Amino acid sequence: MSQHFINNQWVAGASGESIPVIDPSTGDTFAAIARGNAHDIDQAVVAARQAYQGAWGAFTAAERGRVLMKLAYTLQDHAEELAQLESRDCGKPLKQARADAAAIVRYFEFYAGAADKLLGHTIPYQNGYTVLTLREPHGVTGHIVPWNYPLQIFGRSVGGALAAGNACVVKPAEDACLSLLRVAELAAEAGLPPGALNIVTGYGHEAGDVLVKHPGIDHISFTGSPTIGQLVVRNASVNYTPVTLELGGKSPQIVFADADFDAMVPVVVNAIVQNAGQTCSAGSRLLVQRSAYEEVLSRLSQAFGQLRCGPAQMDLDCGPLIRHSQLERVQHFLQQVQQDGLPIAGQGQVVPQAPTGGFYQAPTLVRDVPVQHRLAQEEVFGPVLAALPFDDEADAVRIANATEYGLVASIWTRDGARQMRLARQVRSGQVFINNYGAGGGIELPFGGVKASGWGREKGFEALYGFTVLKTISIQHG
Ligand code: NAD
Repeated sequence: MSQHFINNQWVAGASGESIPVIDPSTGDTFAAIARGNAHDIDQAVVAARQAYQGAWGAFTAAERGRVLMKLAYTLQDHAEELAQLESRDCGKPLKQARADAAAIVRYFEFYAGAADKLLGHTIPYQNGYTVLTLREPHGVTGHIVPWNYPLQIFGRSVGGALAAGNACVVKPAEDACLSLLRVAELAAEAGLPPGALNIVTGYGHEAGDVLVKHPGIDHISFTGSPTIGQLVVRNASVNYTPVTLELGGKSPQIVFADADFDAMVPVVVNAIVQNAGQTCSAGSRLLVQRSAYEEVLSRLSQAFGQLRCGPAQMDLDCGPLIRHSQLERVQHFLQQVQQDGLPIAGQGQVVPQAPTGGFYQAPTLVRDVPVQHRLAQEEVFGPVLAALPFDDEADAVRIANATEYGLVASIWTRDGARQMRLARQVRSGQVFINNYGAGGGIELPFGGVKASGWGREKGFEALYGFTVLKTISIQHG
């Protein structure tokens, strides 16, 4: 598989070099991907431009919808194969990988249906004029995908871009490419013309860097860390290339004393354990009203105690982290917790069958975390939940907004007026009341404020981001 997919063909990388693919469950190398460079990116951008100006650009909106729907059905037929690939490559428990495969099908289905419903407006203007707006594709869009949800993030980003009529060049994360290479091959089988979708694998600072700076790229959709997001914005600005940024989060779950605890506990646990906490929208901060703090902590401590972590194929509550350096990063946070004397209120276990070379971290609940502590401020990207008390609504809002992030929040209360007051005061792109989406919901616009990024993906809103608005004014007397 160590080749790129350009112009509907497997293409050897110009460097001839490859990057090993490691199974996070065992630490073993089981495949290799091509180490893309400037030549490979250039080839992909040229292919995309030709498609945009040629066969793909000539598709009507309805024809685009039809081929994307065919791709959705093709992905559906291969969902189990994609789930198995994703599970091995990312260390995802199978149920999670299957959910991701189902999600990419749904993304293509949704955007296939939306392709011919992307309408402009007419604007009331002076007498003798008709003014209208057109939504036109950017042209060639670049997509930089992280390793935590390759299928899902590809689906929401590339699905929308293709539906809007763009031709795409995708640079997946070096840790997780296999499923996306297979998706590109299936897209060709489904009838996407050559060059409409191209994938170049490689390192971020090599292939990714070149893609962002390439003058033939008309828009960049970046999903990843805030640090690299800022770098991408700086680099893209050289060519005035617009960027959509989907970055991290430190999303609060705010639990009031009147909440339905039975409903809340499994959702709060899942929101941090899902994908081993490597979810941008993980519910990684738990804010509990002081009068209910001990009861909620006691319930959660029990729930954490039952969690089991192990190899992807065992399909437990939690799989391994993506790579060794990620495990070290999470362990570093926990060392700090220990040094600072913060109490561990609950912890799952790594099962004895877990291979010693895998990257396992037992799910951990830390309580009484000060608002300004690293664990309550920084993204751990592991299965570690920071719990802290609050006194009243004002205190809850103050703490919820006291990080640099603003991606998702949830509010658990039976008080309807309070639900709406808080939903409006919490600064985040999504607010869930008595539920938590953890990034789910293909139809729901998703994205952040502050360090969580800008622009929206998912839903119909994403299509606007993958188009440029043109205003046409006709003077007809
Ligand atoms: P990362 O920023 O290191 O890498 C993301 C992608 O950027 C990868 O494909 C990588 O190869 C590429 N990249 C790295 N350096 C680059 C450069 N100089 N130029 C261009 N591309 C470059 O992040 P990661 O470790 O892959 O993912 C984890 C981070 O992503 C977390 O912070 C997480 O919160 C965030 N994330 C956000 C969302 C979201 O939708 N908001 C989704 C998933 C992950």
